[in-house]
Amino acid sequence: MNNSTKKRTWRFVKSFKLRVFVVITLIIIVPTILGSIFIFNMASDGYLNKKIDKYKSSNTMLKNSIVSEGDLENGNSVVVDTQIAQLSKQYNCRIEIVDSRYNIVKDTDSSEIGKTSVSEFVIRAMTGENVYVSNKKKRYVEFTEPIITTAPTADGKTKSSTIGVLYINYSIADIDSYNHMLSRYVIIADCLIIVFALLMAWLCSVIFNRPIKKISQSIEKISLGQSGNIKENDYSEIVEISNEFQKMIDRMNTQETSRQEFVSNVSHELKTPITSMKVLAESLIGNQGVPEELYQEFLQDICKEIDRENDIITDLLDLVKMERTDAKLNISSVNINEILETILKRLKLIAESKNIELVFETFRPVIADVDELKFASVATNLVENAIKYNNTDGTVTVSLNSDHQYFYLKVIDTGIGISEEDQERVFERFFRVDKARARETGGTGLGLAITKDIVQKHHGSIKIHSKEGEGTTFIVRMPLKYIV
Ligand code: ADP
Repeated sequence: MNNSTKKRTWRFVKSFKLRVFVVITLIIIVPTILGSIFIFNMASDGYLNKKIDKYKSSNTMLKNSIVSEGDLENGNSVVVDTQIAQLSKQYNCRIEIVDSRYNIVKDTDSSEIGKTSVSEFVIRAMTGENVYVSNKKKRYVEFTEPIITTAPTADGKTKSSTIGVLYINYSIADIDSYNHMLSRYVIIADCLIIVFALLMAWLCSVIFNRPIKKISQSIEKISLGQSGNIKENDYSEIVEISNEFQKMIDRMNTQETSRQEFVSNVSHELKTPITSMKVLAESLIGNQGVPEELYQEFLQDICKEIDRENDIITDLLDLVKMERTDAKLNISSVNINEILETILKRLKLIAESKNIELVFETFRPVIADVDELKFASVATNLVENAIKYNNTDGTVTVSLNSDHQYFYLKVIDTGIGISEEDQERVFERFFRVDKARARETGGTGLGLAITKDIVQKHHGSIKIHSKEGEGTTFIVRMPLKYIV
């Protein structure tokens, strides 16, 4: 057996279709077989019981004749002998009559006449007991019954006494032919039911498997690149699977669209500084005898563009690192107040250049499980933006608070603000409200995208409240304890 045949066989063995087939077959066949065994035994026992009832009434009739004819007291009666001969012929049975002295007086086999019979059953029968033995294996039933007479007594009552024993051994060999015929009917019925069960099982397995087949065909089509939707409305489980799958496809499509958008944005963003550099360099090459100051100015502009290109690449690398699903956070217990104080100290000079006041409001010391470097870049980015997009003489307030579960970092500025429609987009990569201003301030449009990624990786959230011309507030909520 080659590999592909083996695989196909294994797939068939493990298939839902085969399981439905086997289960339905077993559900029908097992009770059928058990039922037919039960019916067979019942019918066979019923047949035997009927026979035994017949034997019993024949025994009674014979015993009555023996008593009425006085066969045991007065010697052979023709009536009794005829009845014995008929009975023995009709039922192929052996009949013995034992008198009260335990002598065998009649025997259809003749071999025992004159002998004494003191078997246990005869003794028990002599005491008035009806002894009945049935042996299905050896195919006989045996009766050892007392022959009882009743006579009136002097006080007007009746007295019963055992005057002998009737022993009859009936052959039940014919039960074999009855059982044989019975088993033939049962086997024919079973075969018909098995054929019906196999057909039903096959039909059910095909019908039950149909929605699964349909959904797997749709999935296969989509995996081969064909467009289409997965929508099944059969079993609710299949509907659930198809809905989840459709959601996954939609998510993948969205991801693909945003990946394409991202790639085109990256190319555009990386090209812009290069184009500027080229224009600057070409104008220097094209104009001979350019004054020294102009050279200096153009070269400084080229350097700025190189820095910008560098910023974009660094931010992009950070973003890619953060987006890797296996990217690990270097979590440790960190004093958040200290980190914020250090950042504010570092940014003080930039703020002062625009005469912006930096205020730090802290309500309580906060120790939290965070990746120190990444959290520092979140805070730096938010405070840098608050300074960059602020007005001269403005204020940036950084506030830190916590409850029993989370800590809250608020960065509030009195700057230009962000319009409501743009607030939803500021976390998108490369989104800048005012591209020209961002270029001036050296923004890449990636800072808030990186910030949001870091916050989400810490299982936190980031929100924005802003009013154009009045200022912006970013609120970061992060858990105090990091749970993987
Ligand atoms: P950038 O590097 O351009 O600052 P960000 O991702 O940090 O990139 O910010 C995206 C855009 O959101 C910015 O270009 C700016 O237009 C707007 N923005 C961010 N922070 C503020 C703020 N505090 N006030 C006003 N606008 C802001």
